[in-house]
Amino acid sequence: EVDIHKIRPEYVESFLFQDKLMLSTWIVVRIDGCHFHRFSDIHKFEKPNDEKALKLMNACAAALLEEFQDITFAYGVSDEFSFVVKKESKFYERQPSAIVSTMVSFFSTMYISKWNEFFPETELNYPPSFDGRAVCYPSSKILRDYLSWRQVDCHINNQYNTCFWMLVDSVKSKREAQNYLKGTQTQEKNDLLARNGIDYNALPDIFRRGSSIFRDKENKTLMEVNCAEDSRKKIVIEHCNIIDDDFWDSHPWILG
Ligand code: ATP
Ligand code: ATP
Ligand code: MG
Ligand code: MG
Ligand code: MG
Ligand code: MG
Repeated sequence: EVDIHKIRPEYVESFLFQDKLMLSTWIVVRIDGCHFHRFSDIHKFEKPNDEKALKLMNACAAALLEEFQDITFAYGVSDEFSFVVKKESKFYERQPSAIVSTMVSFFSTMYISKWNEFFPETELNYPPSFDGRAVCYPSSKILRDYLSWRQVDCHINNQYNTCFWMLVDSVKSKREAQNYLKGTQTQEKNDLLARNGIDYNALPDIFRRGSSIFRDKENKTLMEVNCAEDSRKKIVIEHCNIIDDDFWDSHPWILG
């Protein structure tokens, strides 16, 4: 028979593996909706881009920046968001499981609680969930390469999806549209869109460039914005090019 009073806490706890993300590196936590292909179907998202759904994602991400001061930048597209945690951060002693689980859980509950604000006419059929992972980036160059990769991905997917749904809307079945687009290059896709009266570059920035969220440098604090007794900076959402130097040159405080 087991005498539970003989189980020493040190013994049980000695099995714990204390993981720690490398010091002095930027931590990127990327979250992604679980099975959003299905979730977007069931909730009748507009294809290829439902703007309300993107704005809901942005609102949740902005709430995360409000809540966790160590997040300095966020980039989002489709059902994913990448959060950049500043390199000096001591958040949860840099334990990845604590950081990722807290952010994912906060984001998921925000998504559900803000749903009605963005989809007043659509009932939430079931509560969605998100997964997350943390990766360390040791230099601002590599961190920027990561963010550039996500923005390039946004463009490639958006261009493909815009063609795909245009074909599906006009004549083709989903499978025919898929076969038709197989192996086509960027220029061919732009030409295809142009022939059908769609100027890709005239599509809204939020679709083509995704969403970047960060704190305003201007000392326009929340105190002035909404009279809270608070010195936190205002959070802004932009749909800009984050691949070229221009953005980072004009926002040097983000990567500090
Ligand atoms: P997984 O669980 O592996 O992430 P998934 O079904 O979520 O699977 P993703 O690769 O993450 O697959 O793709 C997300 C899908 O969600 C997109 O392919 C798209 O169908 C849909 N989706 C997400 N956001 C939007 C949106 N704003 N408008 C329209 N569709 C969207
Ligand atoms: P942390 O964010 O570090 O986990 P915490 O405030 O959640 O901080 P815990 O050590 O997790 O601290 O303790 C949870 C606390 O929540 C308890 O100390 C208790 O005050 C409260 N609590 C949780 N569940 C109940 C419950 N069923 N009834 C009353 N109080 C509860
Ligand atoms: Mg996933
Ligand atoms: Mg997903
Ligand atoms: Mg995704
Ligand atoms: Mg607790």
